[in-house]
Amino acid sequence: MPAKVVYLSLGSNLGDREKFLNDALELLAQHQIQVIARSSVYETEPQDVANQPWFLNMVVACETRYFPLQLLTVLQRIERDLGRVRGGSAVRRGPRSIDLDILLFGNAILEMAQLTIPHPRMLERRFVLEPLLEIAPDLKFPLTNKPLRNYLAAASGQKLHKRSS
Ligand code: ATP
Ligand code: CA
Ligand code: CA
Repeated sequence: MPAKVVYLSLGSNLGDREKFLNDALELLAQHQIQVIARSSVYETEPQDVANQPWFLNMVVACETRYFPLQLLTVLQRIERDLGRVRGGSAVRRGPRSIDLDILLFGNAILEMAQLTIPHPRMLERRFVLEPLLEIAPDLKFPLTNKPLRNYLAAASGQKLHKRSS
């Protein structure tokens, strides 16, 4: 497969959040997922499940030759290697050491049992849109072909501040 540009969302709200983000960036490179641009790190209020610590979030642009499902498998492997606990006592959308989501995969539109691209909830999430627009201000949303920046106003309720660049 020729190299594609993909956008990934990284999040952590357990333990040494900054280190989990940095370790994830290192592991992406080790798995032939080349980071070509990275946003600032944002500290963000939890959105889906309240009463949990604030997150650190960032978005990266990467080049990869993986197919979408292969990329998902690699990301889940990295999450596991960084100690992410799934199932059992882990709350869905609850605290996690690291969460790696595929936001966009070139202009692909995909709907499979394990993988939906674009990420189905990305437009509602300021913690996704704000860092994504920082590194790709003119990017369009593949389902509508409208600039992603058009969606920011509707998502701006969430509390968030930029931590570093
Ligand atoms: P959310 O998807 O709302 O951000 P989450 O990241 O907490 O919630 P997870 O428990 O990490 O949810 O993932 C649940 C499942 O979502 C994964 O096992 C994966 O198969 C599926 N999934 C579907 N689309 C995507 C995508 N674009 N990126 C990552 N995972 C996805
Ligand atoms: Ca997620
Ligand atoms: Ca996820």
